[in-house]
Amino acid sequence: MRLPSQIQVFERGWLSCNNVLLQGSGGAALVDSGYGAHAPQTVALVEHALGGKRLAQLVNTHCHSDHMGGNRAIQDAHRCRTTIPVGEAPLIDRWDEEALVLGFADQRAERFRYDDTVAPGDEVRLGDLDWQVLAAPGHDPHAVMFFAPEERILISGDALWEDGFGVVFPALFGSTTALPETRATLESIARLDVRTVIPGHGRVFTAAGAALERAFGRLEGYEQDITRHARHAVKVMIVFALLEKRRMPIAALPRYLEEVGFLREVNARHLHLTPAALAEWLVADLERAKALGREDGDLVPLVRA
Ligand SMILES: [Zn+2]
Repeated sequence: MRLPSQIQVFERGWLSCNNVLLQGSGGAALVDSGYGAHAPQTVALVEHALGGKRLAQLVNTHCHSDHMGGNRAIQDAHRCRTTIPVGEAPLIDRWDEEALVLGFADQRAERFRYDDTVAPGDEVRLGDLDWQVLAAPGHDPHAVMFFAPEERILISGDALWEDGFGVVFPALFGSTTALPETRATLESIARLDVRTVIPGHGRVFTAAGAALERAFGRLEGYEQDITRHARHAVKVMIVFALLEKRRMPIAALPRYLEEVGFLREVNARHLHLTPAALAEWLVADLERAKALGREDGDLVPLVRA
């Protein structure tokens, strides 16, 4: 995939988001820092790419655990300026474990400081390119994307992947605006004339039109029946948990589904299954999808961490 030479993408698995390193005359900047458990690896990737130079700036597309989990480690290593979307600032100030989808979903991130914020409509200079800051509500109401018109590159975060987009969390908890916002975000991408998408997860891709078509198709399914999205979300969260824990006794899954607030709430609101029935359905479905397997009575992830 041809990207300008000052842009490097560290394609990670599903526990850590991709990291985008942009080097330019204003210093080096990193977009998103991965999951906390991978922070040493993220720091090493950046260090290797910079060859001992200091990182000047860290920027987040949004503040979920897999995008900001390495912030603190990167700050400790580089004393860099840290920039977050303006809407995330109050959540980071009070470290809102529910709104940030942390403890509420059995996810973790080390607390970090930020120096400034970006808002939709701003322009930032990263890697000697001007990037428009675009609103990307849906998956996260405060998320932003970065678009460089000169190169027609979009750093999309979790608003658009090659096959899908991030779970639209607020839509599962009674928000009536989150799915329409997701649609508006996809429509705003469609208007951009994007050549290359650097997504939050998965490989860099150029066929934005086809990706948008798939995304709109999925969204339509969720608009017709939100329980489809609830089932998708529970599967995504269980695979994420397995990627972090590496294994979980199958017998422990029903209890986990009751103990973790996010899973308990989504089941209570949308699925109405006993924990045992939900566990049974989850394992069967994720096994069929080859997302998890069994090993000595444990569930193990089969997708790349
Ligand atoms: Zn996210």
